[in-house]
Amino acid sequence: MTAPDSASSRPHRELLEVRDLGVDFTGPDGTPLHAVRGLSFTLRRGETLAVVGESGSGKSTTALALTRMLPGTGRIATGSVLLDGQDLAAATDEELRAVRGARIGMIFQDPMTALNPVLSIGRHLDEVLRAHGTRDRAARRARAVDLLDRVGIPEPHRRIDDHPHQFSGGQRQRILIAMALAGEPDILLADEPTTALDATVQEQILTLLADLNRETGTALVLITHNMGVVARSCDRVLVMYGGTVVEDGPTAEVLTRPRHPYTAGLLAAVP
Ligand code: ADP
Ligand code: MG
Repeated sequence: MTAPDSASSRPHRELLEVRDLGVDFTGPDGTPLHAVRGLSFTLRRGETLAVVGESGSGKSTTALALTRMLPGTGRIATGSVLLDGQDLAAATDEELRAVRGARIGMIFQDPMTALNPVLSIGRHLDEVLRAHGTRDRAARRARAVDLLDRVGIPEPHRRIDDHPHQFSGGQRQRILIAMALAGEPDILLADEPTTALDATVQEQILTLLADLNRETGTALVLITHNMGVVARSCDRVLVMYGGTVVEDGPTAEVLTRPRHPYTAGLLAAVP
């Protein structure tokens, strides 16, 4: 654990610094599979960072490793994940619970897996807001309506008692974004949040995430295949290949002067 005063004595420290991260899974025969290796990057306050790379390159594993939510046999084998100087790779479970949602919010590909079909969306938001310490029930309800309005659910005061299946796929993803925003996180991690949606709705959701970043200053880590959105709304791009970062730079630079052959191929495939 880093002492709190050392954090304030280094004002230029990045919000998130990942250094030499390695993540292993154990294969069925007991051999380790190195899903992520030697991965380093930094994220500044308020920044939008795109993470791109082919399927299996370790994007989701990296995202899940940041708050130690790795599935199955996954474990952090090397490196550190410094959030304001606190190493989450070495944090206690209690310290991690305080970080998840409140400092790092997450949005995944399929909203249905994260929503309980028998609970109204008001109840979903109520539980998240209560977990983040809003004690007064009426205050939680007002804040829930406000959050739903913020993510573009029309007439939220009328819809708040409706259940997940009464919303479209895009609206459900907006509800998940509202839930992620409820903790007022410093970082929003979105892992292919629009892959299950049609093209128009994809654009709307990605635009919403970019707007929220501009308005709230929440840093955004966006794992996506949508290079158009990367070009339009992300400050920096990280290209992953074979479990590590092969390219990291300002968007314009990476898109116009790719240094790694994989990135060049990726760009050639963009219409
Ligand atoms: P991406 O998100 O870029 O498609 P992933 O992070 O999902 O890539 O996968 C990276 C590597 O980790 C792959 O080789 C994948 O098979 C492996 N992996 C991911 N999840 C698991 C798991 N639960 N158990 C074993 N191996 C996994
Ligand atoms: Mg993935």
